[in-house]
Amino acid sequence: MTPKQLSTANHDRDAAGLRYVYPVMSRRSGGLSIGINFNTNNACNWRCIYCQVPGLTRGAAPALDLHVLEHELRGFLDQVLNGEFYENFGVAEAHRVIKDIALSGNGEPTSLKNFAAAVRLIADIASAAGVFPLAKFILITNGSLMQRPEVQQGLATLARHRGEVWFKVDSGSVAVRQLINGVTLSQEKLLANLDIASSLCPTRLQTCMVHYRNTWSDEEKSDYLALLAQIRQNAIDVRQVMLYSLARVSWQPEAPELQAVSREDMVELAADIEALGFDVSIND
Ligand code: SF4
Repeated sequence: MTPKQLSTANHDRDAAGLRYVYPVMSRRSGGLSIGINFNTNNACNWRCIYCQVPGLTRGAAPALDLHVLEHELRGFLDQVLNGEFYENFGVAEAHRVIKDIALSGNGEPTSLKNFAAAVRLIADIASAAGVFPLAKFILITNGSLMQRPEVQQGLATLARHRGEVWFKVDSGSVAVRQLINGVTLSQEKLLANLDIASSLCPTRLQTCMVHYRNTWSDEEKSDYLALLAQIRQNAIDVRQVMLYSLARVSWQPEAPELQAVSREDMVELAADIEALGFDVSIND
């Protein structure tokens, strides 16, 4: 039987036929990333115009069944570590390694009501299976719910397990964030949320660069750099700024108007960010 291909382009959250757990071969990390999707209802408190979630709605993650998550994650790790997962999916020998477990779903993961308990459960299962501490534990978030004690407890657990927070900052201006992310988010609030995240767990910024109307004009670039300068001035500990552009198709109505930012433009911005004293990566 021809193995089902699990390529870097296959981010189908149904690839393993599970409710919460999905495998992704990550080109960036050169191995298997195990995704956990809390937002099985495709609901997010933001609406980014480049969002790749089909049928995205506004809202929070639904109640999570911890027993199902436990059963799925234990079973899936067993398949990967002791079973025939890699053979079944035709994964090359060199890539047969679990690089990370990523809380990254079809919406904002921290909107889950029992977020702290879910993070603890995942950490316990991955530690018992010997996946942690070798693999990383990553939270991909828009950072908007950092003031919640439940979320802060989850971040503290992440930090105890080589955790990282990848915190979304797509623009330095309130108006452009409104346009790109569909939310009103003041500079003060963004900085306060970032401060909370980075004080609890090592934090990187994630910036999705897309051309839409007049985004990434010279004015927009200087707003973005001014925000980064402010982050430095406030002594907020950001480990890295990760720039990327449209890797996959947007499922939002604006999709036909979106254009990826060229690598040259990303390299140019990266140099300006480095000049402010940040480490920068470009993932295109
Ligand atoms: S924060 Fe993430 S999941 Fe939510 S709308 Fe934006 S890209 Fe989609």
